[in-house]
Amino acid sequence: MVIIRSNKAQFEYDIHSLVKAFYPEKHVRVLTPESVIRDRKILERPADMELVFGEDKVVFQVAGIDSGKETGCAEAIEDSEQYEHVYTWHVKDEKGVDYKNAFKRFLYNSLREETGISLPWGNLTGIRPTKIAMSMLEQGKSEEEITEFLKCEHLVSAEKSALGIEIAKREMEILKPLHYENGYSLYIGIPFCPTTCLYCSFTSFPISLWKERIADYLDALEKEIDFISDIYRHKTLDTVYIGGGTPTSLSADELDRQLTKLKASFDFSTEQEYTIVAGRADSITKEKLSVLYRHGVTRISVNPQTMKQETLKLIGRQHTVKQVVDAFYLAREVGFDNINMDIILGLPGEKEEDVKETINDIEELAPDSLTVHSLAVKRASALAQLIRESGGSVMDSLHNTNETMRIAKEGAQRMGMSPYYLYRQKNMSGNFENVGYAKEGKYGIYNILIMEEKQTIVALGAGTITKRVYPDGRIERCDNVKDVASYIERIDEMIERKRKLFED
Ligand code: SF4
Repeated sequence: MVIIRSNKAQFEYDIHSLVKAFYPEKHVRVLTPESVIRDRKILERPADMELVFGEDKVVFQVAGIDSGKETGCAEAIEDSEQYEHVYTWHVKDEKGVDYKNAFKRFLYNSLREETGISLPWGNLTGIRPTKIAMSMLEQGKSEEEITEFLKCEHLVSAEKSALGIEIAKREMEILKPLHYENGYSLYIGIPFCPTTCLYCSFTSFPISLWKERIADYLDALEKEIDFISDIYRHKTLDTVYIGGGTPTSLSADELDRQLTKLKASFDFSTEQEYTIVAGRADSITKEKLSVLYRHGVTRISVNPQTMKQETLKLIGRQHTVKQVVDAFYLAREVGFDNINMDIILGLPGEKEEDVKETINDIEELAPDSLTVHSLAVKRASALAQLIRESGGSVMDSLHNTNETMRIAKEGAQRMGMSPYYLYRQKNMSGNFENVGYAKEGKYGIYNILIMEEKQTIVALGAGTITKRVYPDGRIERCDNVKDVASYIERIDEMIERKRKLFED
């Protein structure tokens, strides 16, 4: 564990994110005067790092965490018995600049010196790089100006700046046909999967445990659908995305019921994209695919994550590589001409060679888009638990590098795809990013909308979050409870929350 004590309760999220990015294998705690600490072990432990915010300077002291590094400091100003290295930022030197970002630069530079590591996305935490690039493009800034800004303000590498700008430009083109004034997108959450993946942090429950209550779940969902279709009857539906979970965990009849209800409730004549996640190959049958196709679904995802059998077993996906291949060809046979595949880089035990083989196998299938994720260790996942239990040693088997990223990127290029959306999460393996690649015209529009927050997304179902985007860019959210039983029982309350959000 890395404990950072700070004399002020500010920027905790950024401090945590940056330290965690430099020490991914460690559990990180930021303690401030306002922290409530119940664990005596933490109380009694000396801090590994200390931040002292003063009137005109900030001092950052480090006790030398497993680094054994003896290199110099930014500026040693005082001796400290407890700490090996002391870094100082003289705030008065930075007058007129964004204080928070200047502080993040100072912390980043100190940690870079401490560890000898540079992060590809610099000090960017909690900000979407494409959002910065897109808003600067909208303000008429040139690519050079954006690159300079990302480099100087956020210490982003030249390669990542170029990627962010390329994607932002493509996103702007893709989003042009949307009905910005009156349009919205619809998200439906089906929170069931055949089994739970090791790294999963989504609202997802094994379908076998909920078989008896699926009808109740669909009843509740239909109540929400009725409410929204009524208050949004004058709005224009741009995209529909059914995710979860794995919606194809439902039976063919249940899917038919769900999609029939949607078609009867909303005007699909303006819809530009209708996606369903058919992610798990062990949930896909010809009958289900035929139901989706018959109802006009335009885009599906068949997600292998890896084409290495051993890894699939390790990460709790109880399907085979052959099932992925069969499901993919079945979808083509049924008529789908827009199929996405997701892969994850940095899965336990996987090396460059494994990623190469996965990409080669996917190339043979020739999907229309490929989403490349860098494994993110989410606190609520079984993987995070496993890492904690292993004392961090499991982290050594998570291997995501410039090389694996390059292999995936070049594979996508060979398949005729370009990057069209990008996002980053906390605790991502290698501190990289998730990138969606697609062939021309096969982009996932909803994926961009959810990231760039340009349009209202009405989300129905357990564990979903609705975002209302106002014309001035302001965003208000309302969430549904995650637990399926609570969602069913409290459906009227979920509707009431939406009524409040949309009442004017
Ligand atoms: S398929 Fe997706 S939602 Fe389902 S358990 Fe795996 S990661 Fe979670």
